[in-house]
Amino acid sequence: MNKKNIYLLGATGSIGTQTLDVIDNNPDKYELITISFGRQIDKGIEIIKKFKPKFVSTMDSKDALKIKLLFPEIEVGFGDEGLIHAATYDSYNSNENLVVTAVVGSVGLTPTIKAIKKGYNIGLANKETLVTAGHLVMKLAEENHVKILPIDSEHAAIFQCLNGEDPSKVEQLIITASGGSFRDKTREELVYVTIKDALNHPNWSMGAKITIDSATMMNKGLEVIEAHWLFNLPYERISTILHKESVIHSMVEFIDTAVIAQLGTPDMRIPIQYALAYPERIVSKNSRRLNLAEIGKLNFKEMDYNRFPCLKFAYDAGIKGGSMPTVLNAANEAAVGLFLQGKIKFLDIEKLIYQQIESHHIISNPDLETVLALDQEIKAKVSSLQIERS
Ligand code: NDP
Ligand code: MG
Repeated sequence: MNKKNIYLLGATGSIGTQTLDVIDNNPDKYELITISFGRQIDKGIEIIKKFKPKFVSTMDSKDALKIKLLFPEIEVGFGDEGLIHAATYDSYNSNENLVVTAVVGSVGLTPTIKAIKKGYNIGLANKETLVTAGHLVMKLAEENHVKILPIDSEHAAIFQCLNGEDPSKVEQLIITASGGSFRDKTREELVYVTIKDALNHPNWSMGAKITIDSATMMNKGLEVIEAHWLFNLPYERISTILHKESVIHSMVEFIDTAVIAQLGTPDMRIPIQYALAYPERIVSKNSRRLNLAEIGKLNFKEMDYNRFPCLKFAYDAGIKGGSMPTVLNAANEAAVGLFLQGKIKFLDIEKLIYQQIESHHIISNPDLETVLALDQEIKAKVSSLQIERS
C-alpha cells in the first residue's frame, strides 16, 4: 500500500485520538500532514511532539501563537480559516490525500467542501456535515471524483456489506442502535435524568455531544439521514432496530431476502482503520477479537417512535428534505449545547427541536450560503428561546 497523507480535523477528540492510534500503529502507511483542534492545547502539544505535523490549526489565535513559539518550524492557523487550511494543505508529494473529519457539528461542513473541491478523499466521522448539506456534499464529491469513506460504525458496516454487490439489488438498510444511556428508562423516568447520567453510555466511549445524541436517539436519526446520502436510498428503505449489545454494527437486506451483517467489538478504531486503509484491509494491532460464545446471546427489539421522538423528527425532516435537515441539525446542536451547560432539562432538547422544525418554511435545494446562514440563525434562536412548558 502506498503511503497516504492524513489531514486530521478534530485531533484531540474521541475519533481524533483513535485515528492517531491507527496512524501510530502503521507509521509505514500514513503520514500526518496537518491537525486541527479546539481548546485542548496541552493534548494538542503532545500530538505535535509525537507526530510532527507540518500545519496546526487551533480555535483561538492565542493558542496558535503559543504553538508557533514552541514549534517555530511548524506553520499555524486558527479559527474557520485555519480549519479550512488544515483540510486543504498542499503536501507537495504524490501520495493519496485523505482528510479525516472528526470535528463535532456543522463547523465541519465548509472545510469538507473545500477539501472535496481540491480532490482530497474524505474519511467522514462528522455526520452533521451530511445531515446539514448532504445534497451539496455528495454532488461535489461525484463531480470531483472524491471518495467519501464512512467512519461512523453503522455506515462503515453497510459500506462493507455492499462490497462487490450491485446497489440496485439492495432491498433495505437496517441500522442497529444500542439505545444509549437511557434505553431501559420510561419517558416518565427521563424527566429527572442528569447530565452525568446522560454521559454514561453503556457500550461506547465517545465525545459529549454524540453521547447525548445517543441518549435522545437523535444520533440514530442523524445516521438515517447520513445513510440516505451515502448510499443513495429513499427513507422508506432505511430502517432502524434496537440491538443493545452493539455487536452487529448494521445490515443490508437484498432483493432475494438475504441479509448481510457486519459484526465486531465496539471499537471505533476498526471502522477508522477501514476508511484509512480502503480499499485494503490491514491488521488491527491492538483491537480485541470478537468472541460470540462469550457474548452468548444477541437481542433485538423494534424501535418505538413514541419513546424516541427525535428519531421520528429526523425521518420526517429527511423526507421533507430541502432546508429541513439543516434546521433539525442546528436546533439539535444548540439544544444539546444548552443541556450540556446545565441550562435546560433532558426532555427540553426534543421540545426545542420540535419548535424549530414545526415553524420552519422549507427552502428547496438550498445553496451553501443559505445552509450556513440558516444554521447560524436557528442556533441563535434556540440559544435565546424560552421553552414553552406544556
Ligand atoms: P469530541 O467532542 O470528542 O471531539 C471533537 C473534536 O473537534 C475535538 O478535537 C475538538 O477540539 C474539536 N472541535 C470542536 N469544536 C471545534 C471547532 N469549532 N473548531 C475546531 N475544532 C473543534 O467528538 P467525537 O470525536 O466524539 O465526535 C466527532 C464527530 O464524529 C462527531 O460528528 C460525531 O457525531 C462523530 N462520531 C463519533 C463517534 C465516536 O465514537 N466518538 C462515532 C461515530 C461518529 P477540543 O477538544 O480540543 O476543544
Ligand atoms: Mg454511529
